[in-house]
Amino acid sequence: MISNNRVRVRMAPSPTGDLHVGGARTALFTWLFARHHGGDFILRIEDTDRKRFVDESMQGIFEALRWLGLDWDEGPQVGGPYGPYIQSERLDLYQERAAWLVEHGHAYPCFCSPERLNEVRAAHRERGEPPGYDRHCRNLTLEQIAEYRAQGIEPVIRLKMPLEGTTSLTDLLRGEITWENRLLEDAVILKSDGYPTYHLAVVIDDHLMKISHVTRGEEWLPSSPLHVQLYEAFGWEPPIFAHPSVILKPDGKGKLSKRDGAVGVLEYKRNGYLPEALDNYLALLGWSSGDQEIFTREELIEKFDLADVNPSPSRFSFEKLLWMNQHYINHILTLEDLTQRCIPYLQQAGLVSDVAGDPSSAEHAYAQSVIALLKDRMKLLTEVVELTSFFFTEETEPYEPSLLVPKKTEPSAVGPALERVEAILTEADFDDEAAMQASLDELLAELGLKRGQLYMAIRVAVTGRTVSPGLFETMRVLGKERTLARIAAARAKLAAG
Ligand code: GLU
Repeated sequence: MISNNRVRVRMAPSPTGDLHVGGARTALFTWLFARHHGGDFILRIEDTDRKRFVDESMQGIFEALRWLGLDWDEGPQVGGPYGPYIQSERLDLYQERAAWLVEHGHAYPCFCSPERLNEVRAAHRERGEPPGYDRHCRNLTLEQIAEYRAQGIEPVIRLKMPLEGTTSLTDLLRGEITWENRLLEDAVILKSDGYPTYHLAVVIDDHLMKISHVTRGEEWLPSSPLHVQLYEAFGWEPPIFAHPSVILKPDGKGKLSKRDGAVGVLEYKRNGYLPEALDNYLALLGWSSGDQEIFTREELIEKFDLADVNPSPSRFSFEKLLWMNQHYINHILTLEDLTQRCIPYLQQAGLVSDVAGDPSSAEHAYAQSVIALLKDRMKLLTEVVELTSFFFTEETEPYEPSLLVPKKTEPSAVGPALERVEAILTEADFDDEAAMQASLDELLAELGLKRGQLYMAIRVAVTGRTVSPGLFETMRVLGKERTLARIAAARAKLAAG
């Protein structure tokens, strides 16, 4: 472990696109590990691959991490003692250290043209050898180097890998892993434009930022021996490595990708998922604590340990995640919390006013009583609009008059029935659902209708739909005035139809 023993971990995304659920899962594991140990979680942006750079991506990554509640102690937007935390602002650090490696015989300039490198690759392929650089420039004399430079060729810098022996590391999840050095390439560490490659920048920054544990996706495992060799060349102690697995498609056949469904964290935000539910779900992709499925954030922090992460790949289940989201909406969030999260959707749909961002307290209280009736049917926050819209409008949405006529009833029977209902409800106390129900049930014999038939006619009149929450609670929340107006409108529809 690094000398000062403090847990310092980092997430080091490249701003090449949206933060993917796989990256978010690794970030969550890393964050939980930091919080569990009272250590530091550092965010560093690895933007040295200018070809893959996507401008808005960095802001999107910040937004996604903040939404998931993965706050960082050091990094862009918050600063810290080891900044800057954006690699493109640290280029001289990498250049100086690359020069140091060359001076001390651990690295060398390579002047090979892309054409030559292609030929070498093709020749290796032809001979059935693994593609790689043939170390052509490894032993150039000073004169040769001077000659290339005189021709104006800007070299790349390559690391001199040992030609024999092995390189090992102990991965926290996977145990000891060993590579044969003769199979490792003299990788490029500094490009001819002066930008470092990932390998050089990651090692220098993890060292300078005093990172104790490097947690990153399994796809970086093959680069690790190169990193270990770089630590060796610099004479630095390497951090502890942990490489959680990739996430597989639901059927287990290959890596999860865009084609399988939503994979961007912010897509989940837009689609009405709760960050708590996504965190809870992601924590269980490769980690568990007995049979427990629902964890508060505090429980996750308390129970999580990197060493318990299973190194074999986990399958992503869109259904399980949806179930988890529904569970949080139905059972975990308080009604007030849920209301606050639903209101922006209702505002966006124009159902609740948006005066300076906040609805009035009366509107808020009304929205809360509506959501109380429907929350058990809600799987996604976005559904709130569709489920509740009829509560927020003066009239119901348009509906077919035929819906007012339940099965095995005649249109001619429904009009008079609704007239009687209207008369009774005019006298009713809407806060007393049981009394309202009793007085309507008394009508059944007189009208010759079954309860289901009468209630369906009233339900359609009052909500414009055949499916709604309980009829009496719906009427209570809608209030007498609107309920009666809607019944009157239904009678008019029948009379006209
Ligand atoms: N910059 C790398 C990426 O975006 C992260 C690798 C690492 O964490 O070391 O995947």
